[in-house]
Amino acid sequence: MQDPESYLSSVFGFENFRPGQEEIVRAVAAGKNTLAIMPTGGGKSLCFQLPALMQDGVTVVISPLIALMRDQVRGLRTAGVEAGALTSGNTAEETDAVWTGLEAGTLKLLYIAPERLAASGTERMLKRAGVALIAVDEAHCVSQWGHDFRPDYLRIGGLRQALDVPLAAFTATADAETRAEIVDRLFDGTPPEIFLRGFDRPNLTLAFEVKNSPRAQILSFAAARKGQSGIVYCGTRAKTETIAKALRDDGHSACHYHAGMAAEDRRIVETRFSREDGLIVVATIAFGMGVDKPDIRWVAHADLPKSIEGYYQEIGRAGRDGAPADTLTLYGPDDIRFRRQQIDEGLAPGDRKTADHGRLNALLGLAEALGCRRQVLLGYFGETTEPCGNCDLCATPPDTFDGTQPVRKALSAILRTGEYFGAGHLIDILIGNTTEKITQRGHDTLPTFGVGMEFDKRGWQAVFRQMAAHDLVRPDPDRFGALRMTEAARPILKDEATITLRKDALARAPRRPAVKTLVSEEDAPLLSALKAKRRALAEEARVPAYVIFPDRTLIEMAETRPATLDQMAQVSGVGAKKLESYGRTFLEVITGDIPDIPHPARRKLSGQKAGGLYDRLLEVQARLARGPRGLDKPMRCSSAQLARVAEAQPGDLGSLTRLLGDRHAERFGAAFLEVLSEAG
Ligand code: ADP
Ligand code: ZN
Repeated sequence: MQDPESYLSSVFGFENFRPGQEEIVRAVAAGKNTLAIMPTGGGKSLCFQLPALMQDGVTVVISPLIALMRDQVRGLRTAGVEAGALTSGNTAEETDAVWTGLEAGTLKLLYIAPERLAASGTERMLKRAGVALIAVDEAHCVSQWGHDFRPDYLRIGGLRQALDVPLAAFTATADAETRAEIVDRLFDGTPPEIFLRGFDRPNLTLAFEVKNSPRAQILSFAAARKGQSGIVYCGTRAKTETIAKALRDDGHSACHYHAGMAAEDRRIVETRFSREDGLIVVATIAFGMGVDKPDIRWVAHADLPKSIEGYYQEIGRAGRDGAPADTLTLYGPDDIRFRRQQIDEGLAPGDRKTADHGRLNALLGLAEALGCRRQVLLGYFGETTEPCGNCDLCATPPDTFDGTQPVRKALSAILRTGEYFGAGHLIDILIGNTTEKITQRGHDTLPTFGVGMEFDKRGWQAVFRQMAAHDLVRPDPDRFGALRMTEAARPILKDEATITLRKDALARAPRRPAVKTLVSEEDAPLLSALKAKRRALAEEARVPAYVIFPDRTLIEMAETRPATLDQMAQVSGVGAKKLESYGRTFLEVITGDIPDIPHPARRKLSGQKAGGLYDRLLEVQARLARGPRGLDKPMRCSSAQLARVAEAQPGDLGSLTRLLGDRHAERFGAAFLEVLSEAG
């Protein structure tokens, strides 16, 4: 049997358990009867899905929410898990497939609606199928006194006895009476193991600081806690060694720890840490799994953690004894770039990468929170609380301002350029910076060009960072980090909502020299995409990555962006053999669907208003290429047609149709006319 962590990452793509999940997963997988009370959004489903994968046989999931069941089944299937549902919404084929899977014993999760329990034959069918576990979602529906009462839920207790298998019940709302009723009806009065633990760790002080001189910041934090046991988490192995040394030089007792050390050396550190009072361990996240020292008085992050889940788990190692303990997390723009890059260079499918960017946004939201951090942290896990009085923001609330107008300008710059660009280029547009890329694409003719004079470049960077922190934008991994607007941004764009931003973020001076990067900020996401492709090919062929292409070849590709195989052959490191094996694959990564290389029809319009119009038509077209809902057959206008529309600027559908033809006018007409009228 594989351990839960390996499924957590391989199937679900998560790095860490959320608060509470691990204990529940272990109890359920150990075959115990369990009742878990978790807030909505806390991550209940994982607590039965993961044990289901660890066991032989099928796990039956009973839930009253049909849409939710179908979502979960779809999610599991895309993750490669055999799951099916028996609900009233099924097609005959879907039901057949479920039966076949059950008979063959390949189905891991079977979702059924409670009504199904009443059908004769269900119990018999389940008996034959070899059920490993019954999971009951929304278990409070068994309570006759609650307003969610489902009479069919009363059959579950009988089913459990008939099948004689463990049962795991989940609910978000359970006062003592409901709980007693659940125990009574689902577990026949024999109390299961109950998990009811708030996520809050009120004895932990929460604080974030912008990195300006990380070593000095860590040293001063540690100096104020001299003689107390603490952990410093770092993003790299090398850093654990330098910071440990700096701490020793400052008179602390400190050592480093990372997965690259010999097992024996690691064990020595672990033992010393558990025995010695006042030792500081400077470590990567490899340190922690086996740490159960109750009196760790502080935890500091020298680098931004990977996710909120990781943050919570790492700070949670402090103060297990319930006595006060302090935490400090440093973060800066470089950390964010680094984490984004890690996501983009990973091998996860696109939508998972997008979700990971969203999760990173949530962590940024915590870092750049406007009010009590604990409220934000617990809110992410679904709990609500009062302001805590034990975090840096409760102590010193940040200065804020109404950021609605700047954010709308930024959103409009994103939309007007078809969601094809990263923050760097968008900022150039907003502050009216006439770079070569701007003129080449005619972006100096956009209405948003130069409308953002209220901030300088650094100010706008802070605005974009906070927009990410509010999850208004996410980088699109398929477009090399180009920013896409999320649904959350729509009300602001439409002037139906306002947004408050932090002032201090705008005023921060970048005191540190810029980090050395391999390529410019604009080329970085493409380089990440090329590296991801290289890694996938290398893993497939079981060779080291550099065998496919060395770094410097990828760097040159990212910088020169070859558009044809001929141009690709010019890149150093691309010989005839490699051109044949990999040329097309990497070319696809580079050209993607980005209108990067101007068509001759477009080049003729350079420097004219029609040029900018052409680009916007092209962007609108790309958005509608598969129809308004992305479901239709792909369709596009020829470059010559677009050029004609941009030059003639027809004012009505009739004249537009004459230029495009009926079919194209039907798909693109309205949107094109909008572009033309905006340009007026
Ligand atoms: P609920 O408790 O309301 O049933 P879900 O099981 O639907 O919550 O989970 C809520 C969200 O949390 C989902 O988007 C899920 O992908 C995410 N999630 C669950 N567990 C983790 C984890 N360990 N790490 C990161 N995200 C998680
Ligand atoms: Zn607080």
